[in-house]
Amino acid sequence: MPTSVLLETLRGIVGPAHVLTEGDLSAYTRDWRKRAEGCPLAVVRPANTEQVAAVVRACASQRVSLVPQGGNTGLAVGSVPDETGTQVVLSLRRMDAVRAIDPANLTITVEAGCILQNLQAAAEAAGFLFPLSLAAEGSCTIGGNLATNAGGTQVLRYGATRELCLGLEVVNAQGEVWNGLTGLRKDNTGYDLRDLFIGSEGTLGIITAATMKLYPMPAARLTAWAAVPSMQAAVDLLGLAQKQLGAGLTGFEVMNQFSLSLVDKHLPQLRVPLWQESPWCVLLEDSDQESEEHARAQFERLLEAALEAGWVTDAVVAENLAQAHTLWHIRESIPLAQSEEGLNIKHDVSIPVSRIPAFVAEIDELLAREIPGVRLVDFGHLGDGNLHYNVQTPEGGNAREFLLENEDRINTLVFDCVARHEGSISAEHGIGSLKVAKLPNYKSPVALGMMRAIKSALDPDSIMNPGRVLEPRRVA
Ligand code: FAD
Repeated sequence: MPTSVLLETLRGIVGPAHVLTEGDLSAYTRDWRKRAEGCPLAVVRPANTEQVAAVVRACASQRVSLVPQGGNTGLAVGSVPDETGTQVVLSLRRMDAVRAIDPANLTITVEAGCILQNLQAAAEAAGFLFPLSLAAEGSCTIGGNLATNAGGTQVLRYGATRELCLGLEVVNAQGEVWNGLTGLRKDNTGYDLRDLFIGSEGTLGIITAATMKLYPMPAARLTAWAAVPSMQAAVDLLGLAQKQLGAGLTGFEVMNQFSLSLVDKHLPQLRVPLWQESPWCVLLEDSDQESEEHARAQFERLLEAALEAGWVTDAVVAENLAQAHTLWHIRESIPLAQSEEGLNIKHDVSIPVSRIPAFVAEIDELLAREIPGVRLVDFGHLGDGNLHYNVQTPEGGNAREFLLENEDRINTLVFDCVARHEGSISAEHGIGSLKVAKLPNYKSPVALGMMRAIKSALDPDSIMNPGRVLEPRRVA
């Protein structure tokens, strides 16, 4: 079938207005960090699951590959087409309905293109909390969150997106619809297909809807900001907070002085507290089921004990919700401040919490020795053992040339150090295209073999986001 006939078929399925082939398509073809720009055969915007299935069948019959896309905020270059002009971008953004809320079962069923912030708002309007929260929540979609198993700031208490999901609806590579939208918390009837699709980055099928868990709203949420003298002190403070606050501890973020200095420099209106006093600051959140007074008393007890132990040198507790939002906003502005400063390399590694101080000391020293002048923007979700150990190019000089010369070496130094400390090279953003070449160095051949077998079984013609997660497979 010539391309023009396929395009006509696609227009017949979703309507001509939703098959985009010309004009400015950069919102679909360029990744969030502007590291890659592709050229699609078309951008197709289906309105419902049946249309998704029909689009997949039409493309599968011609072995045309599909790149599923939600909000296109992913950071691993997984949601944009390649340069060949042969791939169809399948945008789920029009599928954004809330299908059902079941208050007694504590579940909400939404379509994949629902923006995360709208999902949070729908849950809140029904009197519940949907806890997944990340800085891209105004534009990322729940389908993308599931496909990347996104983490964010509340994982410590509620888990990553995988833990928040009870069921999925998926269109497979053959264009069949699997309705696995169960709201069951227990189901032992064979292989867990849901968990296979979560985190698969669009390489096994297209998520069209999901049933997600809801939680009771906490009675109060309190935020504190503390200056800590070392990463070891931050880890000690985390242990104490877990002991004293129990399940109330919903956030524990760490930020190094350089990352906060960039927020202070590029967003001075935010007034970063305590950053000049200390090499590290920590942001803690306590969600209390009793009352604000109870939460304040708990925080005071914790901070007093930490000050006495020398794990905290100074601290502020937000007086009200507006102040709490400002503190979170400072933390979430680090990526923006970092891009204002210039080009950088992002890492989203995880290491057992107990080994983080040793990891940071080792890699800081190694990079200073091997690649002099690099500046380290180190921050992240310490409670989950997840650090964004980012590397900013040296001040002055040509940043682009520097990256061309040093990026691969820096990645290898960081990832090798992660491996020595038994960590993972990706805790949040996934593999996408960015880390495909590196993955075989850090994943066991047995695990990779099983992953390739799953991919071949579910997507034998390799039409689902080929070249992401696993290296492209030649199909006869
Ligand atoms: P996209 O970017 O559109 O896609 C991401 C991947 O999922 C691609 O491989 C795509 O093919 C696939 N995909 C998308 N939709 C579907 C679908 N319906 N079915 C199958 N596959 C699909 N991540 C974290 O984990 N924690 C953070 O704290 C965090 N903070 C961020 C902050 C900022 C400012 C930004 C820009 C990103 C951040 N991210 C974070 C990255 C995160 O992965 C994405 O924000 C989000 O999860 C991706 O959702 P999306 O809808 O934009 O997906």
